[in-house]
Amino acid sequence: MQARRTKKRALLVVNPRARRGTGTIAAAVKLLEESGLDVDEVKVGEGETIADVIRRAADGVDLVIVGGGDGTLNAAAPALVETGLPLGVLPLGTANDFARTLSIPPDLAKAAEIIATGRLRDFDLGEVNGHLFFNVASIGFSAELAAELTEKAKKRWGVVGYAIVAARILLRSRLFTAHVDHDGTTERIRTMQISVGNGRHYGGGMTVEETATAEDGKLDLYSLEVDHWWRLLALLPSLRKGTQGKWDDVRAFQTTEVTIRTSRPRPVNTDGELSAYTPAHFRILTKAIRVFAPPPEALAKPAP
Ligand SMILES: [Mg+2]
Repeated sequence: MQARRTKKRALLVVNPRARRGTGTIAAAVKLLEESGLDVDEVKVGEGETIADVIRRAADGVDLVIVGGGDGTLNAAAPALVETGLPLGVLPLGTANDFARTLSIPPDLAKAAEIIATGRLRDFDLGEVNGHLFFNVASIGFSAELAAELTEKAKKRWGVVGYAIVAARILLRSRLFTAHVDHDGTTERIRTMQISVGNGRHYGGGMTVEETATAEDGKLDLYSLEVDHWWRLLALLPSLRKGTQGKWDDVRAFQTTEVTIRTSRPRPVNTDGELSAYTPAHFRILTKAIRVFAPPPEALAKPAP
């Protein structure tokens, strides 16, 4: 006779390219199992995606734990939304900005404890032309940077290569015209970059807006309408803090839906991946995903 199953079953999918530390994942899994979870790690096979793995395992599990960074979460997103399975995050990426937005600590043992605690909260996702994003979607400079900076170049040239490519693109960057339709108005703007954020952080420590959250039911848009590319250097500290909207040459507003049109199709970068082209229709998907996360007190900002 079989014992009645009482343990919750967790599917663990780890980005195969994530750097495996010396037993750090193993320690996190041990902690999860000691907390009463039945953890089944499934590898992403040849020719399939993380989303495929989640869809295949969905009927037999109670939650999904993703080990990886923002790119890995982005790849898992469609299956998480379709299946409605709650998400645990083990931040194993080079950029873990969504985890940071949710105050999930980078320390794997602490991140595992948050999953073990079992506190689930609802978070929003952004969507552009049917592609989901956790952090930000951008058109302009950063999207073009991502397009030029292939994985191969990243591996070969590392940080120096990134800087060279960035400088090259900056030097030839021109403002482009965009029509921005939102909240019943159309604005014609000249911009170097438009970013539409769901959460607070992106791009390895940049900030969409200092008070933005992934649970405010809003997208935060900012547009860099600078005269010269070197103005970006002066804006950089503000772009890190999320206070760029205070400058005259940065347009910033909150909305729930916005369409951006450009004269020629321009790539849209979602959480670091090129996934769409303009015309780009953005919308917020309120409370689209349940994530094991610390209580909101940890996120709360002092009242202004
Ligand atoms: Mg938001």
